[in-house]
Amino acid sequence: MLNAKRTVAELKELRSLTGDENGAQRVAFTPTWAQARKFLRDKVEEIPGVEIHNDAAGNFWATLPGKIDKALLIGGHIDSVPNGGWLDGCLNTLAGVEILRRIAEQYKGKPPVTVRLVDWCDEEGARFGKSLFGSSACSGKIDMDETRGLKDKDGIRLVDAVKEHGIDFENVKDCGKELQNAAAYIELHIEQGPVLLDLDLPLGVVLGTFGVERHAITFRGQAAHSGSTPMNRRRDAFLAAAKMASEIYEIAKRSNGGVCTIGSCTTKPGIVTSVVEECRITLDQRHLDEKALQKMLSEAKAASEKFAKDGNLDVQWERIWNIEPILFNNQLIDFCEQAISESGVKPHRLPSGPLHDAAEVARAGVPTVMMFVQSLHGISHNKIEDTKEEHLELAVTAFDKLAAKAMAWIR
Ligand SMILES: [Zn+2]
Repeated sequence: MLNAKRTVAELKELRSLTGDENGAQRVAFTPTWAQARKFLRDKVEEIPGVEIHNDAAGNFWATLPGKIDKALLIGGHIDSVPNGGWLDGCLNTLAGVEILRRIAEQYKGKPPVTVRLVDWCDEEGARFGKSLFGSSACSGKIDMDETRGLKDKDGIRLVDAVKEHGIDFENVKDCGKELQNAAAYIELHIEQGPVLLDLDLPLGVVLGTFGVERHAITFRGQAAHSGSTPMNRRRDAFLAAAKMASEIYEIAKRSNGGVCTIGSCTTKPGIVTSVVEECRITLDQRHLDEKALQKMLSEAKAASEKFAKDGNLDVQWERIWNIEPILFNNQLIDFCEQAISESGVKPHRLPSGPLHDAAEVARAGVPTVMMFVQSLHGISHNKIEDTKEEHLELAVTAFDKLAAKAMAWIR
């Protein structure tokens, strides 16, 4: 029998074991993280029939072999950011333990399909500044050259830090073989945003993760004395940037679900007595639909060119980073919605702004879906991160129903 209250109790146990007055301290590749993982391993070892191992990238796998090799994967991450919240990542891992218990008991150790719990290694990237370490190694999308060069703030290299935890960096991609028989992947996560809270709904079905277009935009005009230059003679680079600031709200509004952010603005010469000659802003645009994302981008480009022309300026665009939207599996999305409805609450479909390990698994071609549970305050990566206990219990129950539907589907 599934016992959702036990998951909440274990989350509290983990919090007291690995957190302090500033929040969760389970930063990957630290002793506290190793302690959290030992806690997880101890829980899993009590389940009869479960095989445990760490793969080449340090991902922890607990496998309950079934009548067929095709497997349902339940994934999460027990690592946290420094001073993090008590639920981010580990909610899924510990819910997964409870679901493994239920399945082992129900099928007397031999379920119809194989069921595997994975605790991804270093989802947060808090120490080395690169997230999704273990899952991107597994999907094969990890950038080996970039990751090889990473150092923490004390100058310790990632390759040396991971070696202490039994990982040979050069071989991390070998863990890709873990996905060989993966037939479905499910992940439960706190929303980390305010959407479900504002709708007063406990659970959501995640459609996928946003695609991102990130650019720097530089307007160039002419520096001129702030006293002697009449307003109609100015080539003010800041004026165009300022017009962009309000324009991106219109672009986002028209896009039906996208978001746009101008996150930084620098001016040259940047003194109080000169018209701005050069103004550089960054623009981050996100949407779940690739076409809509590209439309937002081309609208922003057209607007920047118009404002440049109006102000007798030059404008130049430079791409900083981009990633395509990653869409989850339609069948699993339907199952997730049904599982939520059958738990007695109204499901809500929403995209995920942040990336998650689930996105890497989906990129590797495994049918994937995520379930979100409401975050109080709409806040995460902070010690005030919280979710109502009744919502946590509801989430574990609904997530277990999703697991059962996915298993039936695989069979
Ligand atoms: Zn997380």
